[in-house]
Amino acid sequence: MSLGEDVRRICQALLRFDTTNPPGNERASAEYLAGSLRDVGLDPVLLEGAPLRANMVVRYKGTGKLPPLLLTAHLDVVEADAAQWRRGPFSGDEFEGCLWGRGAVDMRHMAAMSAAVLRELARTKTKLDRDVIFAAVADEEAGCDLGSRYLVENHRSLVEAEYALGEVGGFSLHLGNSTFYPVQVAEKGFCWVRARIKGTPGHGSMPRADSVVTKLGEALSALGKTHLPVHVTSYMSEFIGAIREKQPQLLQPLVKLVAHPQLLARVARLVPNASIARSFSALLANTASATVVRAGSKTNVIPGVAEFEIDGRTLPGQTDADLMAELRHVLGPDVELEIIKSAPPVVTEPVESSVFDIIVDEVERREPGAKVVPYLIPGFTDAKYFSQAGARWYGFCPLKIERSSGIKFADMFHGNDERVPVAGLQWGAEVLASVVKRIGTTA
Ligand SMILES: [Zn+2]
Repeated sequence: MSLGEDVRRICQALLRFDTTNPPGNERASAEYLAGSLRDVGLDPVLLEGAPLRANMVVRYKGTGKLPPLLLTAHLDVVEADAAQWRRGPFSGDEFEGCLWGRGAVDMRHMAAMSAAVLRELARTKTKLDRDVIFAAVADEEAGCDLGSRYLVENHRSLVEAEYALGEVGGFSLHLGNSTFYPVQVAEKGFCWVRARIKGTPGHGSMPRADSVVTKLGEALSALGKTHLPVHVTSYMSEFIGAIREKQPQLLQPLVKLVAHPQLLARVARLVPNASIARSFSALLANTASATVVRAGSKTNVIPGVAEFEIDGRTLPGQTDADLMAELRHVLGPDVELEIIKSAPPVVTEPVESSVFDIIVDEVERREPGAKVVPYLIPGFTDAKYFSQAGARWYGFCPLKIERSSGIKFADMFHGNDERVPVAGLQWGAEVLASVVKRIGTTA
């Protein structure tokens, strides 16, 4: 079977498993992948941090002269409202040249490509100096505890690698007249915070000016309306600089403003496309979104305490303490702050490596005129944990999206009608196969 047909078949099969997280239930899809790898003589293992929450790990052996390369994808997906879709979110239908289903680009396509590439390596008995590990993991969409984190904390030797390829990047991004292939080399940290306001309780029939509910409203309003200070990282200035060479009109005004962070942030917020404006702004500052709010339980009682939770995100170079200081400045002394859970930013340093050079070469050779650009993402991925086991992370799941298709990768992510172009998926499998073989023999 050709690589292209193999990846199409595996991706379609994966899309038919409902791995909505919660509850996840990744075991059946992990077993399917394991079976496809056993068929070519490999020896996959399933490892569960909780019943049904399976991770699948398999290793294609090299000579061991060089340390391993890790390919990784998460098998779980976010929920989908079938009524909003043109094809069933777990149908795996092939329609309009695409495979349809939740997880098509986030990120069962990478699971399918990785499995197809390992199957090809095994079938052709390709000689490599590195082991190639493929880890298909559970639970990324709920914070990685039963997936990459579980593997790194409990089965570290199975997933230790010098380099890792995973989320997010390698897709065609059409800006102006140019095409870019962003490759994630940094991701923000997260710092989830509980905010508490204490006061005097009272009867609802006699309003109090110092009610914690009123203070809660003021605090939420202040947080929602304040832009935290701008910190321009090397990742953003290099990303903008790389794009500058191609000079798409959209970003031209931003390019000139790198030296003026506050102005840059102000202009970024004015980008007409609201989703670009939001994501761009999130890459220039620590951010804080109020999410969960709690106060009171009876209509006639003014409560003595009000709480809210803040989803805080930290830029590379910033710490939890930096974010907490920024929050205190916005919220004032009456709001007590306490960190619930946090993890630092992940950075791949230096960005340059033989692996990055190989990625650039393989993509740009196939796509004359396109440009591979390193970038920073506002969210978090399995990189958080796999990088703790030593891997230098590149977000690279190659996928060609034709400009004429009108499909935008960012809209597919957690969006309705998530789908992956079959030709682009097959292109991606070819690129990944070449990249893996070259990394496998390059120090
Ligand atoms: Zn994902």
